[in-house]
Amino acid sequence: MHIQNQTWGQRDSAVNWHPFTPLKTAGEAIAIVRGEGAYLYDENGKRYIDAIASWWVNLHGHAHPYIAEQVSDQLRTLEHVIFAGFTHPSAVALSEALLEVLPGNQSKVFYSDNGSTAIEVALKMSFQYAYNRDQPKSTVLAFRHGYHGDTFGAMAVSGRSGWTEPFADLLFDVIHIDLPTEANLPEIQAFIDHHADQIACFVYEPLVQGAGGMRMYEAAHLDTLLRYCRSKGMLLVQDEIFVGFGRTGRMFAADHLTEKPDIMCLSKGLTGGTMPLGVTTCTADIHEAFRTDNVYGTLFHGHSFTANPLACRAALASLHLLKSAETQAAIARIAHQHAQFRARVATHAIIHSVRQCGVILAMNLGDDGADSYFRNQCKPVFGALLQKGILLRPLGNVLYLVPPYCISDADLQYCYDSIIEVLTESVIEISIE
Ligand SMILES: *Cc1c(COP(=O)(O)O)cnc(C)c1O
Repeated sequence: MHIQNQTWGQRDSAVNWHPFTPLKTAGEAIAIVRGEGAYLYDENGKRYIDAIASWWVNLHGHAHPYIAEQVSDQLRTLEHVIFAGFTHPSAVALSEALLEVLPGNQSKVFYSDNGSTAIEVALKMSFQYAYNRDQPKSTVLAFRHGYHGDTFGAMAVSGRSGWTEPFADLLFDVIHIDLPTEANLPEIQAFIDHHADQIACFVYEPLVQGAGGMRMYEAAHLDTLLRYCRSKGMLLVQDEIFVGFGRTGRMFAADHLTEKPDIMCLSKGLTGGTMPLGVTTCTADIHEAFRTDNVYGTLFHGHSFTANPLACRAALASLHLLKSAETQAAIARIAHQHAQFRARVATHAIIHSVRQCGVILAMNLGDDGADSYFRNQCKPVFGALLQKGILLRPLGNVLYLVPPYCISDADLQYCYDSIIEVLTESVIEISIE
């Protein structure tokens, strides 16, 4: 069907509809034909440093030989099998391996396909936990500016924004609160108190709100809030879809907290960025609430590809690499380099609120106001960095780095230097105008 001599980019424009992409202003997509380590190569052979780990999923670099070998062995052994009434070694081994590294109170693993579905499962578990115990509840507590995915339940518990606006009337009621600070905690608690008996669960991104703009907050304040919510009978649903698997400098954000969640959601880095897979884990208490004589007490949820063996095997391989001394050293090394960059730009004129949590480094461009004129500057900044061979896709006026752990010191330095160079150039352009 396609016209001869067209590029992949041109052929793509004719047939594909891309995520989070305003159609009127979208240019042709860059066609990536190969990946290796921290690099991506486009159809013209141009090389890019993948400094955002391909939407935060990649841990060990692209086309990792060990993961490829493991997945290919699985592919030749068993590609898929129904997961109701059947199981397979890779799902069993992965659940065992995950429960070994997750907080000690996590007891059962429920598989799904991606981050959004992991959240949907967590929400259904929470509401039905209350239902099965004859204490039905009708709402959820969540943070403003939170992001938990794009399916309806996940949208409902995310912050309200332009992304959810067309569906506003269709989203179930959620009680939204601000991120906790020393100053606002008493106020937040008083506010929650009015609704507490209707709240099935509190859903939150621990330490860093990713898509909402890399907003970071203190573990101690979250711990206080979690203790309070638990005392009010809510289940704690910890969304570690972005921050899990080393991003915060530790295996999980949970490792920075004293309070243990009741339910955890994982995806993104779970398979090292190789295949889609979602995980929702829960405590024995929650699992037990579904062991009822009444058949309607069953968790009626499942996807055709639940616990896909290829994805489970990729996750096992990724976890193996992640636990190695080499990867742990790389995480510490990147965190250290980020800290040095922070010190370097602390007084820079147009980089504001530089912040860091582990290997996540974020900065605001221009002033911190939501509609800062600099917002428009982000697209040129993105383009200029791409030209320099760096993939750094900003969120609004927030520029951030979440590199794969295999990135070299030299490539990290090149990213830092290029950011400063490109931003300095944009300031000069503006002052000339
Ligand atoms: C990306 C993300 C999700 C949704 O995951 P998908 O796999 O994109 O559906 C949920 N929560 C957080 C914190 C995320 O960053």
